Amino acid sequence: MRRNTLLIDADDTLWENNVFFEKLIEDFISLVESCGYTRAYIRHILNETERKNIRQYGYGVRCFGRSLEETYLKLAEQMAVRETVATIKARVLELERTPPKIMDGVPETLAYLAERHRLILFSKGEAAEQAAKVERSGLQGFFEFIEIVPEKDHETYGKLVHKHKIVKSQGWMIGNSPRSDINPAMKIGLNAVYIPHQDTWQLEHEPVVAGAGKLVILPAFRELRTHF
Ligand SMILES: [Mg+2]
Repeated sequence: MRRNTLLIDADDTLWENNVFFEKLIEDFISLVESCGYTRAYIRHILNETERKNIRQYGYGVRCFGRSLEETYLKLAEQMAVRETVATIKARVLELERTPPKIMDGVPETLAYLAERHRLILFSKGEAAEQAAKVERSGLQGFFEFIEIVPEKDHETYGKLVHKHKIVKSQGWMIGNSPRSDINPAMKIGLNAVYIPHQDTWQLEHEPVVAGAGKLVILPAFRELRTHF
């Protein structure tokens, strides 16, 4: 097989990420439920608050913490208590300190791929936070480059292709998010491997839209060996 350039997503592709956020969100909803709202409504307000804050502050655990606090203050109104805000802050700090939990089969599969292809880690988020996760994962040695951007859209894919002189027919984006990994990559003519993850964040959900390139859907990261 020819040498390809593989752009590989990080959160929920190489390591578990959103499951920790979801756990915190569930506990948060239980905390706010006593104010008299349904769980679905609280989640809806949180999602709206997150969308708004991401536009202003970008992705990242601190922005997430801000969204939880804002949602709480908005819903609790005069019932809001300082202890609950402190609890939320403490839980977010704990989340920030959680070490990455590498997914099954990832290190050995990366070792196999790195011998045959050029690997670039392509992640979105707050630069320092994502870089710290990459470092703690111990996986950085498999990658020729680590690229962290504020948003993964067709423009950032285009810049990446240009910067690394990627031949589109030999370029693949591999990840769990239709919105950030698969659709924008295919829109500019790259190939894509979609590896769905059951805990993909609600704000990343989107129907997969086929493009000019090839689209492969795999059940697990280790299955990449069968294609590359
Ligand atoms: Mg991801």
